[in-house]
Amino acid sequence: MRKEGRSVSTSHGASGQSRDNRGGERSAAVLFEGARVIVGEGELVIDDAGILVRDGLIEQIGPREAVTPDPARETVSLAGKTVMPAIINPHGHIGYWRGAGADSSHFSGENILDHLRRLAYYGVSVFQSLGTDRDDTEIRLRDMQRRGELDDEGLATLFTAGSGIAAPTPGSSNGGPFFAVDAVHEATSAEDARRHVRALAAKDVDAVKLWLDDRHGTKARLPPAICRAIIDEAHTRGLKVAAHIYTVDDAKEAIHAGADILAHLPRTPEPDEELIELLTTRGTAVFTSMSIQRPDGDAWLDDPALAELAPVKAIADLRARIRSNAPQPLFDTTEAYQRMERTLRTFFDAGVRVVFSADTGLLTQFPGFAEHRELEALVAAGVSPLAAIESATQRSADLLGLTDRGALEPGKRADFIVLDADPLVHMPNTRRIDSVHLQGRPLDRRAIRDRVRKDAHSGA
Ligand SMILES: [Zn+2]
Repeated sequence: MRKEGRSVSTSHGASGQSRDNRGGERSAAVLFEGARVIVGEGELVIDDAGILVRDGLIEQIGPREAVTPDPARETVSLAGKTVMPAIINPHGHIGYWRGAGADSSHFSGENILDHLRRLAYYGVSVFQSLGTDRDDTEIRLRDMQRRGELDDEGLATLFTAGSGIAAPTPGSSNGGPFFAVDAVHEATSAEDARRHVRALAAKDVDAVKLWLDDRHGTKARLPPAICRAIIDEAHTRGLKVAAHIYTVDDAKEAIHAGADILAHLPRTPEPDEELIELLTTRGTAVFTSMSIQRPDGDAWLDDPALAELAPVKAIADLRARIRSNAPQPLFDTTEAYQRMERTLRTFFDAGVRVVFSADTGLLTQFPGFAEHRELEALVAAGVSPLAAIESATQRSADLLGLTDRGALEPGKRADFIVLDADPLVHMPNTRRIDSVHLQGRPLDRRAIRDRVRKDAHSGA
């Protein structure tokens, strides 16, 4: 596929270093030493590690004594800290969240930038928005970011699927995302769908999103012939397709049509052998998307890490909505959720390509904080902390075809989160952030906090 093996160069404002005009001279290195490092690949953990960073890249990483001394280096002690790679979230919806929820009236370029700031603040370095762009706003900002034209310190890197595809439902809104039904393309025929995919490809979208299912019989399904046409056209143009599905039958239909990614776990019934066989032989990726449905009450709203960016009123409003279950329940029933947890464990055990997804930016999913809730939900479902982190770092980087990020390894970008407490002991410790480093440079989290709070108050 055309998209494999890319490294997208984006500068994070002041952290974007010029590697070109140093006349071949090596710049000073920085050694981060003494932390426990979660590498983000398999079971690899390095205690009392050394990370040597030069020009934004990891030059060496290993036990501290094995990292070659460099007399010109600056040393930063991280004794007592835990380091994990920055999170890469390949599934969310940017630009709709504001206050305590998502709405199409909130969508704007400014709001997208606000979300990219929030994501970076919480250590999310890459975010892919899946299918809810309006008027190419996401595409325009993504392109500006790739050209280095966003003069803004500390933004997550944006990926986008542009505007996704659903079937029109006669006499009603389509089966696309409830907060953005008017942002998706309603495909009326296979040729119409192909035309839309060609237009997306011309804008160099990073993926294609389609909504296949009938939303509990309330919406028109995407006809199989149109689904296959979308996927065929996308594959011809080197694009991966993520399918929104609900049931095991939906999942099989999407895989048979050639979908590369299921945007959710099938929620009913339990997956059978046939589905698992299909997923493993085809290598279809399955997004976790657990926390968005997790019936875990409202105690998580008391996390001080959430209050750092979320206004008091937003937290109170969401708490009231969770408690009143109005206008509709925000979460799945406990029974349905426990079935999803079993499915998740089954998939991991069977070697299915499970990839982290926080489905950020709607319902309860605060940009940046949702990603940490998702990690917690994975571990609560019985996934090991290291596997959960790997799914959100190396696996998600692989899915996006990013060769320069993911695990903390020589040659990759020094994008990492320094934690005050160890998530391998207690997963919510991923929120106890001491600092976030993008390309080796500490993010000015205080400046982001001030900016985000000021914007929230001005109603920008
Ligand atoms: Zn989604």
